[in-house]
Amino acid sequence: TLTTRFAPSPTGYLHVGGARTALYSWLYAQKNGGEFVLRIEDTDLERSTQESVDAIMDGMNWLNLTWTQGPFFQTKRFDRYKEVIAQLIEQGDAYRCYSTPEEVEAMREEARAKGEKEKYNGKWRNRTDYPEGEPYVIRFKNPLEGDVVIKDLVKGDIVINNQELDDLIIARSDGTPTYNLTVVVDDWDMGITHVIRGDDHVNNTPRQINILQALGAPLPEYAHIPMILGDDGKRLSKRHGAVGVMQYRDDGYLPEALLNYLVRLGWSHGDQEIFSREEMIELFDLTGCNRAPSAFNTDKLVWVNQHYMKTLAPSYVAKHLAWHMENQGVDVANGPALEEIVKVQADRVKTLKEMAEISRYFYVDFTEFDANAAKKHLRAVALEPLQVIKEKLSALADWNAADIHAAINATAEQLEVGMGKVGMPLRVAATGAGNSPSLDITLALLDKDKVLARIDMAIA
Ligand code: GLU
Repeated sequence: TLTTRFAPSPTGYLHVGGARTALYSWLYAQKNGGEFVLRIEDTDLERSTQESVDAIMDGMNWLNLTWTQGPFFQTKRFDRYKEVIAQLIEQGDAYRCYSTPEEVEAMREEARAKGEKEKYNGKWRNRTDYPEGEPYVIRFKNPLEGDVVIKDLVKGDIVINNQELDDLIIARSDGTPTYNLTVVVDDWDMGITHVIRGDDHVNNTPRQINILQALGAPLPEYAHIPMILGDDGKRLSKRHGAVGVMQYRDDGYLPEALLNYLVRLGWSHGDQEIFSREEMIELFDLTGCNRAPSAFNTDKLVWVNQHYMKTLAPSYVAKHLAWHMENQGVDVANGPALEEIVKVQADRVKTLKEMAEISRYFYVDFTEFDANAAKKHLRAVALEPLQVIKEKLSALADWNAADIHAAINATAEQLEVGMGKVGMPLRVAATGAGNSPSLDITLALLDKDKVLARIDMAIA
């Protein structure tokens, strides 16, 4: 079975770069009816935390990227790594190295002085005269000759001469396995057929291929995807603002928008911009991935978010809006169904957070009016229009947008003023500010009693 994996190190939140790697791996498995493994690479005990494991899973759940196997934790697999290390020693593909860190540093310096690539010089590669009781590491016997060819599905063939690679440490002096060893054992044991990951790992790949070959393990296919950059051309990081997936939720983006934005950030299908989840699965392919890094563009993310706020089912968008309302301390039981809010506000905002902010007056009574709006629209001349419209509104037998609209019209006619001379004071009175969706609809969504009480407050 085609099997992909996402293998984060739990040392922080789920970064958008990680989310994109997870997305591509998930899509590729979905597309091919394969399996998607979640593997937590938590061998760095100092930096790995449970909070980070939770944050990664929260992010994946929010994006609805479901793994079909795992989560597997590398810290639970130390026995297996030891077994493989023993096997490599046994078959002559790994050896004890007693060189001290200082010695290795000296070897590097020597190579540097000669203008060669810095590396361990293989001093202990063929020795057996082990000093009793001294600490040692285990090194992999990298082949001395020949090339390693990565048939990268994104970057094309990458050829590395073995002379450029030294004998990699696979177990530290305390016996713990190193990153390249654990990845190899896991990719093998977990039947990974396609390794899709950031190209910051491309230098590890020839080493991993050599170890896999020494183990007689099948080689997975590799696809290294270019990094995401900030607007200054540097690798995207905290300095550029939000990088954690859950921060995007907090900032008011829909998961559909972030996913759609991320799939396009590094992959294209003609000039199509909008992809439903089903379309992504159908159309995604590694051959469509860019070879060059892409820059994160918040304006475009906003544009995609607006698209989804306007086009997804209002009842669905309302579920996400509910989270923001609650997050902002608004009790949505005190007003109209959120679905109705989505219908009238979706094309007026950039994010759900903003939608929640500008929709408070539907649920929460205010004690003062926006100062600028009040100064402009609630002056003495507004008194009469407000009094007349209040009478007409109270007289309405049915509280609906059409009748409210007619009442506003009738007021303007009766007072021989323009609609705005009635509408603007009424809007400020009912909503507290000078901006709202169409006034008749806004009032219809508000309770009649609430509107009348708010007009009273404006008149007072
Ligand atoms: N744990 C590695 C990381 O978070 C990824 C390893 C891999 O994908 O092979 O960068």
